[in-house]
Amino acid sequence: MASIYIETFGCQMNEADSQYLADRATAAGYGIATAPGEANVVVLNTCTVRDNAERRAYGRMGHFKTLKEADPTVKLVVTGCLAEQDRETMAAAVPHLDGVYGTSELVQLGDALQRWRPEFEESEVAEERALVMPMGGAADCVTDAFSHLRAFVTVQRGCSYYCTFCIVPHVRGRFDMRPMAEILAEVREKIAGGAREVMLVGQTVNAYKDPADGTDFGDLCRAVAALPGLERLTFISPHPKDFTEKIIRDLAALPQCNPRIHLPLQSGSDTLLRRMNRKYTMAQFRDVVALIHEHLPDWAITTDIIVGFPGETDADFADTLVYVQTGVFANAFAFIYSIRRGTPAARWEQVPAAVASERFKELFDAENLAVEAYHARKLGTTVRTLIVGTSKKDPTKLAAKTLDNVTAIVPKPEDYDEALYAREPWLDIAIESTHVWGCTGTIVRRAERFADDGAPVARPVLSLV
Ligand code: SF4
Repeated sequence: MASIYIETFGCQMNEADSQYLADRATAAGYGIATAPGEANVVVLNTCTVRDNAERRAYGRMGHFKTLKEADPTVKLVVTGCLAEQDRETMAAAVPHLDGVYGTSELVQLGDALQRWRPEFEESEVAEERALVMPMGGAADCVTDAFSHLRAFVTVQRGCSYYCTFCIVPHVRGRFDMRPMAEILAEVREKIAGGAREVMLVGQTVNAYKDPADGTDFGDLCRAVAALPGLERLTFISPHPKDFTEKIIRDLAALPQCNPRIHLPLQSGSDTLLRRMNRKYTMAQFRDVVALIHEHLPDWAITTDIIVGFPGETDADFADTLVYVQTGVFANAFAFIYSIRRGTPAARWEQVPAAVASERFKELFDAENLAVEAYHARKLGTTVRTLIVGTSKKDPTKLAAKTLDNVTAIVPKPEDYDEALYAREPWLDIAIESTHVWGCTGTIVRRAERFADDGAPVARPVLSLV
């Protein structure tokens, strides 16, 4: 059987696009491979939001050259933001590629997959290749047997806000909102396909407006939550300026919503927020947090922060640090500013690298204290989680995510079987220790549906002795 391997870097928008490709591929008769050496088509879905993401993607393209050398029939394809950004130069720079598809060319890539499939019918090389292909590096996410449990549904593409550090509007274009009827139809399909959690995805998802009648994001969430069979609903990535009280009240009325909001702060200094063109002040950000605390008191707020943005002074950084130290964030993803070609901030005077690193370390330490404290609140409790799959670090363990998106690692139980756990993916985990990266524990029950009580799971023999 022809098979496809999809490696995804970057944001959930890319995961949504990878899921679309996986759906197109399986509809065309492909199986999903979990290692590049086992596939006839290898897709690298790239990100360009930071310099590091670009370098990793080019590194992976280099690794994949050995696949092509071992088997010239294998197709290597690159898509995503880097493909969009470097479309003129990538094919020449990486001649072993079979295709470069920009962010708006996924339909064409799906068509190509359909066209190529008959070529692989007689192919017997994948097994041999798997034996000789140690492939270094790692993606943020690989499509596998559990991927369908979390369905990503794109509600809006592109962004019209033009933050001065961000490449997204340049590679994905301005806002393009999908009609609500189309979104609901796709969610229905995902539920029918076994999705337990639906994530509505957009670069600024809460700016959503139905192009026909202006229906807002809160109404969209209400309509999605009303669909029969929808178990859990979540969304990424909202913009602080687009949260109205009405939207937050709408979310509060939906028990299906996972209790988490990612609210990218970027900086705690009004001067920098202005220079970043973020369109809110710290006072406005605090107002949104207050609304969340009022209407969604148990929800975790997570954030993104950029350290060392051009012009950041010690005082600007101190504003950010002090705000993080209040413990308002259950998690914060801090990044050192990295120059993105073509954006205004790339032309501005840069903060010296040593200064940015020092600030990053200080922020990292402060946030780790807050994260550890947040995770420690789970110690001794039993939490319902959705399975992710085998742990990347230890094949004897499983990874799962709590509703507030904390990683839980547990020993694989005695009855572990991939197909069974894909059918009954809700795991109740007794939390036995907490760390800055998440929690560890033991599975005590397993359920097919979120609302089910579930059945007891026998502890692994090793954990009993
Ligand atoms: S809101 Fe700003 S950071 Fe987010 S996608 Fe748009 S331009 Fe980029």
